[in-house]
Amino acid sequence: MVDKSEVLATLNRLEIDLADTYAIVGTMKDFLNDTLTENTQLRLENDRLRARLDELENPSKVVDRLVSLQKIYDEGFHVCRTYYGKVLEDGENCLLCQEVLS
Ligand SMILES: [Zn+2]
Repeated sequence: MVDKSEVLATLNRLEIDLADTYAIVGTMKDFLNDTLTENTQLRLENDRLRARLDELENPSKVVDRLVSLQKIYDEGFHVCRTYYGKVLEDGENCLLCQEVLS
């Protein structure tokens, strides 16, 4: 015979554990999102500095920088000033980014 109060207590503990796990997943998701944004901002900054060095040495290299920005945008990150380096939502098209790339 199943002890109903024991089953109920187990379900209550499981519910609490699931709530804790859900909160941890949310925190990890936020951390990953922030890390990806920071990483992309650093990549963009690095690309910008490299492009600036290249421009000083050879002004015709501007096209290379646009190709690099397009690649980062295609990987799912903003390259516009407003949302610089942040993750694009699934299927999101940013007009500001597209203006930078055009
Ligand atoms: Zn953008």
